[in-house]
Amino acid sequence: MILLDRVSVMYANKTVALSGVSLHINPKEFVTIVGSSGAGKSTLIRLLIKEEVPTSGKIIVGSIDYDTIDKANIPHLRRRIGVVFQDFKLLPNLTVYENVAFALEVSGVKSKEIKRAVPKILQLVGLSEKMHNYPSELSGGEKQRTAIARALVRNPKILIADEPTGNLDPKNSWDIIELLLKINRFGTTVLLTTHNKEIVDALKKRVITINRGRVVKDEKVGKYSL
Ligand code: ADP
Repeated sequence: MILLDRVSVMYANKTVALSGVSLHINPKEFVTIVGSSGAGKSTLIRLLIKEEVPTSGKIIVGSIDYDTIDKANIPHLRRRIGVVFQDFKLLPNLTVYENVAFALEVSGVKSKEIKRAVPKILQLVGLSEKMHNYPSELSGGEKQRTAIARALVRNPKILIADEPTGNLDPKNSWDIIELLLKINRFGTTVLLTTHNKEIVDALKKRVITINRGRVVKDEKVGKYSL
């Protein structure tokens, strides 16, 4: 569960990025967040992964109250929330397998467990054949699959996909959306941000529209309208 109660963020330069945002997202939901550039989407994502703190308001994710979480627990929180970005952020000198394994290594997972988990997740995202390839040898869609595998391998409760199809052609975009839907069916909450009207309208899922830092629309079966 993700709960935001009257959350506002004002940056040091007095820009109000979010203003009185209240949201309730249930476990296993698939939610798309839309809003024009500067609306506050990235700020919302940074709040959820605790890279940003609200100026006022309350955030609770799962059983974690962001006001009282101590520093030592932030890595734990970030493991519960996987994030993928438009520009993939893969490590160029590591193979697909190594990129995914690295996410577990930094969390101190034992190598036996890594050897079990990584091939399994690569199979889930359809990348078993490419596991020894480097990012430069992959298509955009394959790069995004690698990034998704890397986020998923830690078994997050929530997957945030921030413009995951922004650098992809329509065919690869749909493949990534299908993959997100599959992950969601397996029980992971998915938060998607996108500017792709065609995708949002075809999904027929909940759509939260943000405009100038405020939630201006929140519809169970939403459409892209800005
Ligand atoms: P979006 O992701 O929807 O494009 P952002 O959350 O990045 O929107 O930005 C919301 C508003 O906050 C914009 O007006 C942006 O210029 C401003 N903003 C974002 N990050 C910062 C920052 N670090 N310092 C000051 N203003 C910022």
